[in-house]
Amino acid sequence: MPKTVPPALSRAHELLHQEMLGYLDEVELLTSEADTEDETILDVARTEVPRLVAAVRGMLRDHRADVFGLCLGCAPTWVDGHFAREPWPCPVVGGAHEYLRRPEKLYER
Ligand SMILES: [Zn+2]
Repeated sequence: MPKTVPPALSRAHELLHQEMLGYLDEVELLTSEADTEDETILDVARTEVPRLVAAVRGMLRDHRADVFGLCLGCAPTWVDGHFAREPWPCPVVGGAHEYLRRPEKLYER
Protein backbone atom coordinates (compact mmCIF):
# COMPACT_ATOMS: atom_id res chain seq x y z
CA MET A 1 0.00 0.00 0.00
CA PRO A 2 1.45 3.40 -0.97
CA LYS A 3 2.28 5.73 1.90
CA THR A 4 0.83 8.80 0.15
CA VAL A 5 -2.62 9.03 -1.42
CA PRO A 6 -2.72 10.74 -4.85
CA PRO A 7 -4.46 14.16 -4.66
CA ALA A 8 -7.35 13.09 -6.95
CA LEU A 9 -8.08 10.03 -4.81
CA SER A 10 -7.81 12.10 -1.65
CA ARG A 11 -10.36 14.56 -3.12
CA ALA A 12 -12.71 11.69 -4.05
CA HIS A 13 -12.52 10.35 -0.49
CA GLU A 14 -13.19 13.84 0.86
CA LEU A 15 -16.31 14.25 -1.33
CA LEU A 16 -17.63 10.83 -0.37
CA HIS A 17 -17.06 11.64 3.28
CA GLN A 18 -18.86 15.00 2.93
CA GLU A 19 -21.80 13.40 1.07
CA MET A 20 -22.29 10.78 3.76
CA LEU A 21 -22.03 13.36 6.52
CA GLY A 22 -24.46 15.61 4.64
CA TYR A 23 -26.94 12.74 4.33
CA LEU A 24 -26.64 11.98 8.06
CA ASP A 25 -27.06 15.67 8.93
CA GLU A 26 -30.21 15.81 6.79
CA VAL A 27 -31.74 12.68 8.36
CA GLU A 28 -30.89 13.99 11.80
CA LEU A 29 -32.55 17.33 11.06
CA LEU A 30 -35.63 15.74 9.46
CA THR A 31 -36.16 13.51 12.49
CA SER A 32 -35.57 16.21 15.09
CA GLU A 33 -38.71 16.80 17.12
CA ALA A 34 -37.81 20.45 17.60
CA ASP A 35 -37.54 21.25 13.89
CA THR A 36 -39.90 18.87 12.07
CA GLU A 37 -43.60 17.90 11.98
CA ASP A 38 -44.47 14.44 13.33
CA GLU A 39 -45.75 13.23 9.93
CA THR A 40 -42.43 14.13 8.29
CA ILE A 41 -40.48 12.41 11.08
CA LEU A 42 -42.53 9.25 10.53
CA ASP A 43 -42.06 9.35 6.75
CA VAL A 44 -38.31 9.90 7.05
CA ALA A 45 -37.98 7.19 9.73
CA ARG A 46 -39.85 4.67 7.55
CA THR A 47 -37.53 5.19 4.60
CA GLU A 48 -34.20 5.98 6.27
CA VAL A 49 -34.09 3.74 9.38
CA PRO A 50 -33.94 0.57 7.22
CA ARG A 51 -31.13 2.18 5.18
CA LEU A 52 -29.20 3.09 8.34
CA VAL A 53 -29.73 -0.40 9.83
CA ALA A 54 -28.46 -1.92 6.57
CA ALA A 55 -25.37 0.30 6.75
CA VAL A 56 -24.58 -0.84 10.31
CA ARG A 57 -25.33 -4.50 9.49
CA GLY A 58 -23.10 -4.32 6.41
CA MET A 59 -20.27 -2.82 8.45
CA LEU A 60 -20.68 -5.48 11.17
CA ARG A 61 -20.79 -8.25 8.56
CA ASP A 62 -17.49 -7.05 7.09
CA HIS A 63 -15.85 -6.80 10.52
CA ARG A 64 -16.55 -10.34 11.73
CA ALA A 65 -14.11 -12.77 13.32
CA ASP A 66 -12.29 -15.50 11.41
CA VAL A 67 -11.58 -18.95 12.93
CA PHE A 68 -8.63 -17.46 14.82
CA GLY A 69 -10.72 -14.69 16.40
CA LEU A 70 -9.16 -11.99 14.21
CA CYS A 71 -11.13 -9.35 12.31
CA LEU A 72 -11.67 -10.04 8.60
CA GLY A 73 -12.55 -6.38 7.89
CA CYS A 74 -9.61 -4.51 9.36
CA ALA A 75 -6.52 -4.13 7.21
CA PRO A 76 -3.44 -5.90 8.55
CA THR A 77 -0.79 -3.58 9.96
CA TRP A 78 2.98 -4.01 9.93
CA VAL A 79 4.16 -4.65 13.50
CA ASP A 80 7.65 -5.80 14.54
CA GLY A 81 8.56 -7.18 11.12
CA HIS A 82 5.32 -9.01 10.30
CA PHE A 83 1.71 -8.31 9.41
CA ALA A 84 -0.62 -8.37 12.41
CA ARG A 85 -4.41 -8.37 12.34
CA GLU A 86 -6.83 -6.90 14.86
CA PRO A 87 -8.37 -9.24 17.43
CA TRP A 88 -12.16 -9.30 17.29
CA PRO A 89 -14.09 -7.31 18.42
CA CYS A 90 -11.95 -4.79 16.57
CA PRO A 91 -12.02 -1.00 17.18
CA VAL A 92 -14.65 -0.57 14.40
CA VAL A 93 -17.08 -3.03 16.04
CA GLY A 94 -16.24 -1.71 19.50
CA GLY A 95 -16.95 1.86 18.38
CA ALA A 96 -20.23 0.92 16.70
CA HIS A 97 -21.35 -0.95 19.80
CA GLU A 98 -20.46 1.96 22.07
CA TYR A 99 -22.29 4.52 19.87
CA LEU A 100 -25.37 2.31 19.63
CA ARG A 101 -25.43 2.00 23.41
CA ARG A 102 -24.63 5.65 24.10
CA PRO A 103 -25.10 7.82 20.98
CA GLU A 104 -24.49 10.99 23.00
CA LYS A 105 -20.87 9.86 23.45
CA LEU A 106 -20.22 10.70 19.78
CA TYR A 107 -20.92 14.36 20.47
CA GLU A 108 -18.86 14.54 23.68
CA ARG A 109 -15.62 14.73 21.66
ZN1 LIG B 1 -12.47 -4.78 12.06
